[in-house]
Amino acid sequence: MRKNIVAGNWKMNTDLVAGLQLAKEVVEKSSQLSDNVSLIIAPPFTHLALVAKELEGSKVALSAQNCADKEAGAYTGEVSVDMLKSVNCQYTILGHSERREYYGETDAKLVEKIKLALAKGIDVIFCVGENLEQREANKHFDVVTEQTMNVLNHFSAEDMKHIVVAYEPVWAIGTGKTASSEQAQEIHECIRKVLAEKFGVEVAEETSILYGGSCKPANAKELFAQKDIDGGLIGGAALKAEDFIQIALSF
Ligand code: PEP
Repeated sequence: MRKNIVAGNWKMNTDLVAGLQLAKEVVEKSSQLSDNVSLIIAPPFTHLALVAKELEGSKVALSAQNCADKEAGAYTGEVSVDMLKSVNCQYTILGHSERREYYGETDAKLVEKIKLALAKGIDVIFCVGENLEQREANKHFDVVTEQTMNVLNHFSAEDMKHIVVAYEPVWAIGTGKTASSEQAQEIHECIRKVLAEKFGVEVAEETSILYGGSCKPANAKELFAQKDIDGGLIGGAALKAEDFIQIALSF
């Protein structure tokens, strides 16, 4: 059975002291959760090694927000998957719309990054999602299908055991506008269908597909009740331990 997952993307927020405090609170509150949900936090790179220590022995897993598309060497400012591995990171987010839009992250680069992550044993939270213009032009199904397949076409059914897909409509990220549960469900269903066509129904049924975009305690329950929504990738609400845990308690 596929996993329910709630993952917190801290983005470029918190200094080290605040980040460690937040991680500590998440760990403390995570004892309220039952085993029906996996919790992941993705702090900034600078915090990972120390946050990893806070998470030791807890049920909270550690993720990065990005990784390099090269293995090692003269790539100033980049962070490799080996480096992530060395601080006990189990996941990395890849393909977030902010990376695609502000840092020119292309599908080709994403393929390289995912290949490296999987080769080193790091699981991937792979993000897709249409922008407002594409939704208003009624192109959202096509855009999400294309984003999904342009990248996942390069991977095998076996690889999919280590890839979580996150549907994040760009118009809902950080805007306070959430996709309705129907809008989210129909795209999740479309993604699962696309995965079934490429990898078979069994793989599609086993792949967790998360929703992201202004998900909060007030709307998580309705979103997570949808058949094809297996949890959330949470931005703003992940910066408050109480809200983050309330979201995870919505299953
Ligand atoms: C995100 O950027 O991954 C996200 C979902 O942000 P927010 O929850 O703040 O919309």
